[in-house]
Amino acid sequence: MRVRTFHRGRLLLALTTALATVTVASPAGAAPAGTPAPSDPLAAAFDTAAARYDVPRDLLLALGYAESRLDMHVGTPSAAGGYGLMHLASNPRVRTLDEAATLTRLSPVALRTEPAANVLGAAAVLRSYADQGGVTAAARDDVNAWHAPVARYGGASDPSVARLYADTVYDLLRTGFTSVRGEAVPGRAVAPRRGDLEPAPVLGGIGTLSTDYGPAAWAPASTSNYTVASRPGSHPINRVVIHMTQGSYAGSISWFQNPAAKVSAHYTFRSSDGAVTQSVREKDIAHHAGNWTYNTQSIGIEHEGYVDNPAWFTDAMYRASAALTRTLTTRYGIPRDRAHIIGHVEVPGATHTDPGPNWNWTYYLQLVNGITGIGSGTVNTESANLNVRSGPGSSYPVVGSVADGATVSVYCQAVGSTVTGPYGTTSIWNRIGTNRYVSDAYVSTGHDGYIPNVPRC
Ligand SMILES: [Zn+2]
Repeated sequence: MRVRTFHRGRLLLALTTALATVTVASPAGAAPAGTPAPSDPLAAAFDTAAARYDVPRDLLLALGYAESRLDMHVGTPSAAGGYGLMHLASNPRVRTLDEAATLTRLSPVALRTEPAANVLGAAAVLRSYADQGGVTAAARDDVNAWHAPVARYGGASDPSVARLYADTVYDLLRTGFTSVRGEAVPGRAVAPRRGDLEPAPVLGGIGTLSTDYGPAAWAPASTSNYTVASRPGSHPINRVVIHMTQGSYAGSISWFQNPAAKVSAHYTFRSSDGAVTQSVREKDIAHHAGNWTYNTQSIGIEHEGYVDNPAWFTDAMYRASAALTRTLTTRYGIPRDRAHIIGHVEVPGATHTDPGPNWNWTYYLQLVNGITGIGSGTVNTESANLNVRSGPGSSYPVVGSVADGATVSVYCQAVGSTVTGPYGTTSIWNRIGTNRYVSDAYVSTGHDGYIPNVPRC
């Protein structure tokens, strides 16, 4: 909202009537670093599993966070046949679910569907790999000793992808992350001992770059999972098909290398930072759409995550993916519209629902079309912190706060609940991060209403 003539009385009235939006300054209420919520059953499950199998608890949490964002997805296996928050897998190459059943004597049903059993099973498998790999009892407390067991747990056949899988877990330990019910795992210095994987090329480094798209790493799919062609000569390329992986980034790249998969995509994007790996050359036909005509005439792009969990749908991934789609549409003369940039769910005969309702088509098409303006604004509450909510309205959960006087980036603007603040009464909400919104009534953007060139969410 535009900066207006300021009436103190009006502000106080606004603050009083908008208590749902503003809280008195205080930390966001997160538990101290490393302190679990004592009553949380999932936190307790990690305690139990870590103690019983002598696996570092934070390592277990990081693996679960990398695989699922600690989401059980009860009853819904990943694309690669993995179950639960720890992705216990049962496919022709990776049999961690069966191994967990043997080691824990828990039933496969419990391991697939009960969070505590799932975590216990993963810990048992990791410990057995550590024992087989010569990790001594004295070394088990050191997270850096667990790189090889974690890499084996991921089940990748390609050493670079195996390294990627385990390195992802260590990157989380390095940066820290918020795991169970707001429990913070603080970042730390890590120096994983990679053993046989130390010489494996880092994906995206020398020798592992895509020749089709500069920013992409190259990790070729199994030849069982795509069809060699000479597109666009043999077939026109007239669509881009958007997917969600239903699995992790490294796990999906690895799955495309598994001859049993019978599926592949040209590109896969990572949620956390928009990194991208190519698995099938654009000239070749990836098996992604479940429809031969669409397969032959499209490029398939996967995005790390699960359709039912908005935590995976990050700005970094949207922007990186849109940059690729923008390049593809230029290269093949594909119109930048929803008739030609489609979801898997829109392919005739599709049995998949991806990318699902959490995928923001409006935003994605705006990015693909070059409408990439980012606005900014200054928060004004006079003294209190402004609540940040997970959606565009006062009824959405509070997910953080910003201080009075802070500058925020505005990625897009949405219509939500009406709020009165220092800058008047408005139903505009500014998206200032992934699933983070603040009412425009408390933000000076220099514009009345919408900010020019900033997309609608
Ligand atoms: Zn799909």
